[in-house]
Amino acid sequence: MIPIEAGISIENSGLEIEELKSLERMGIISLQDEEYIRCKNCKDLIDIRDFNHDRIIKCPNCDNTVGKSSSVIKKTAIAKVKFKKIVSIVNSQICTTFGNENVSYDEFDRSWIILHDAKKYLIFVYGISTVSSFLSISENEGVILYLNEKKIRSQIHNLNKSRYRYIFDPVFSSPDHFKDYIDSLNFDKTQEYLKFKEKFEKFLLSMTDTKFEKDFIPKFIEGIIRNYSELSKLYTRLQQVENTILNTKYLKMGGSGLEDFHFVNLLNYLQDGLMPEKFGEAKRYNTSHFSYALFSVALTHAHFEDSLFFVTTNDIAPSVWDTVISQKREGHYKFVILDKDLMLMLIINLKLQYLIDLDR
Ligand SMILES: [Zn+2]
Repeated sequence: MIPIEAGISIENSGLEIEELKSLERMGIISLQDEEYIRCKNCKDLIDIRDFNHDRIIKCPNCDNTVGKSSSVIKKTAIAKVKFKKIVSIVNSQICTTFGNENVSYDEFDRSWIILHDAKKYLIFVYGISTVSSFLSISENEGVILYLNEKKIRSQIHNLNKSRYRYIFDPVFSSPDHFKDYIDSLNFDKTQEYLKFKEKFEKFLLSMTDTKFEKDFIPKFIEGIIRNYSELSKLYTRLQQVENTILNTKYLKMGGSGLEDFHFVNLLNYLQDGLMPEKFGEAKRYNTSHFSYALFSVALTHAHFEDSLFFVTTNDIAPSVWDTVISQKREGHYKFVILDKDLMLMLIINLKLQYLIDLDR
């Protein structure tokens, strides 16, 4: 199955090109034609645009002389992946199989909850879903749909391999097979997780801005400091899975809908954010949308010093993330935002559930 990723290119002969064209017809990708000359010495392909106006250039790989007159190899490349379209196709397959009333899609987490036989299941898309809090507690539950098999290969083992599926695996186009597949998965951790997530969300909604700022966040920070040994364990776990989805946070960037994502090394991000001096510069936002306007006011208050922000939503303006990324200095994040997902991740992993008590 063809990897769906910008930059992947396929020679214009063979069956794969048909697969690419069919993905293009579905509106999932856009394609562009490319032309290459093969270096006779090292067999590398040289993009014809590298010749500019010259008829002969040196191969960038081996320095051998290569002429433009050699036979041209035509390829087709994926120019752009349209995530929004992918989400809408996946959504319709899920709804067809389980019924609209049993499916909920969270547009900020970019994940689905399916109710099936009185049990709940989670479905994510590798590379776009906000999943850190769930992945940090579950090794082998929840379905992770991937677009490029190469990206997930290193993290697959016998216990978890059933949760990973190619996004357009034929199993999803047959409701019976899709249901059988879901039935074959574990779900205990998922129920526990969703129950606590719901409790946490209710807790945030029930709280006034003042209570969030003056009561909850100070206790949260105190809890992080007190349970530092649990935080170290979390860091160690993230380090062990450094180059995998488990240690990745996906930030939605730019203004064009679901098109562009930036991935962040979660371990580095958390370590930069949870430094004692940043606790002194913590800002709190109890809001359902964290806009750029709110963020820039916050930055002014912080005098643009290194700061940590607690935000009770996953709906964070792409321009805010743009700033977080562009203000990285010497490999370190100057501004760290702990959004709802990361707050939940810390509460669960640092055993701070006692903070979430609706009766207080
Ligand atoms: Zn060469």
